[in-house]
Amino acid sequence: MPFPASVEGVLDLLLPLHCAVCRCVGAAVCATCRALLVRLAPPLCARCGAPGAWPVQRCAECAGRRIAFASARAAIVYDERARRLVSAWKERGQRRLAEEAAALVADVLVRPDVAALTFVPADGERTLKRGHRPAEALARGLGAHWDLPVEALVRRTRSVARQRGLGLKERRQNLAGVFVPARASPATVCLVDDIYTSGATATAAASALRKGGSRRVDVVTFARAVR
Ligand SMILES: [Zn+2]
Ligand SMILES: [Zn+2]
Repeated sequence: MPFPASVEGVLDLLLPLHCAVCRCVGAAVCATCRALLVRLAPPLCARCGAPGAWPVQRCAECAGRRIAFASARAAIVYDERARRLVSAWKERGQRRLAEEAAALVADVLVRPDVAALTFVPADGERTLKRGHRPAEALARGLGAHWDLPVEALVRRTRSVARQRGLGLKERRQNLAGVFVPARASPATVCLVDDIYTSGATATAAASALRKGGSRRVDVVTFARAVR
């Protein structure tokens, strides 16, 4: 057996696997919980991906908003089960959960027609605490599923206070100037992140990609908050 590449790898081998959602022993996400994650299916808003009663080009959630991406799609609804999965993924840094998330996204969403995948860069201060980068791990997993190159195209200029509990305007102010192009971006690119909440982070990072030369940015996330 080859040696694991990291301490995380060692722990993965030593500790019995618990389901990130229900804690039962045996798998990173058990079959029951995987089946109970709510897949996002059409009809959706073409622009922001919000589910609705019928397909629309703009919806109550995104109409009148300046959004720098062409579309946003997510695999599952960010409900209590998804929240538990994502928090285990972030706090415990389980590599298997990144793989589970990538497999689920590739199962639910069609491969985007883009030149490359990129990701929302991790917040340095929070990454140090967690020791890993979920958006990047998800993008790398999807790159393998979809056979697309993964490039670090966006750079973070500073750390950001937690967005939780902030209104849309405050979120936007909180994110002003945070993302800049890391280098020239291809004309079409897909931006990957773990969760879509208000779309403020996605639009700030997509703006940086547009400044870097992208003409069209599509966003893919693992989970999406649904009002
Ligand atoms: Zn479970
Ligand atoms: Zn919408």
